[in-house]
Amino acid sequence: MLDVVANLHKVQHKIAQLDSKQQVKLLAVSKTQPIEIIKQVYDTGQKDFGENYLQEALVKVKQTQDLAIVWHFIGSIQSNKTKDIALNFDWVHSVNRLKIAKRLSEQRPDYLSPLNICLQVNIDDSKTKSGALVEQLPELIAQIENLPNLKLRGLMCIPHANNSERAFMNMQSLFKKQTQFDVLSMGMSNDLELAIQYGSTMVRVGTGIFGKR
Ligand SMILES: *Cc1c(COP(=O)(O)O)cnc(C)c1O
Repeated sequence: MLDVVANLHKVQHKIAQLDSKQQVKLLAVSKTQPIEIIKQVYDTGQKDFGENYLQEALVKVKQTQDLAIVWHFIGSIQSNKTKDIALNFDWVHSVNRLKIAKRLSEQRPDYLSPLNICLQVNIDDSKTKSGALVEQLPELIAQIENLPNLKLRGLMCIPHANNSERAFMNMQSLFKKQTQFDVLSMGMSNDLELAIQYGSTMVRVGTGIFGKR
C-alpha cells in the first residue's frame, strides 16, 4: 500500500521533470487492482483511472460512486458492450471505427455530459493491434465530430515496444494537424518519458504505480 503511494509520487516526479508546459495528465491504469488500492491512490488526489475489462470495471464504478473518480475506458470494445460503456464512463480512448462511435453517441444518456473520445490509431500498421489506419482518420474524424453525444478530444496509440519512438513521432505530427484536438494519449510505464518528449498530453500508467499485475 505504501509502495503504491510512493510509486505514484515517483511517476508524478518523473512527469514533472519532463513536462515543462505542465500539460501532461496522469491516468492511473487500475485494471486487476482491488478497490482498496484504488481508494488509497485516489486519496492522494489522483482522480483519473483507466480500466480495460468492462465487467471488472463496472463493479469498480459502482463501488466508488461516492468518489469523484473520472473513469476512462481503454480496452478493446465489442459493439454489444457500448451501452455499459456509454452509461458508466467519462472517457473512451479506444474508439477505432464509426460503428462503435455511433452506438456510444446513441447510448449516451442526455443527463450526462458528452462522452470524451480519443480515436485509437494503428500507428504501426500492425495486423494484430486494433485501431484506425492513418489513411482512415480524416473521414472518421469528420464523421465522429458530427455525433451529438460525443466530444472528440484527440488520438491514442499503443505502439509496438520496439518501435515506439517512430510511432510517437508520427502520432505527434498527426495530432498537430488537428488543431481542434487537446489530447494525445500515449506513453505507458516503460515509455512515458519518450512519449512526453513527443508531445503526449496523457500518459497511461499501470505497473509503474501498482506494481506487476
Ligand atoms: C494496461 C494498459 C496500460 C498500462 O500499462 P503499464 O505498462 O502497466 O503501464 C496502458 N494503456 C493500455 C491501453 C493498457 O491496456
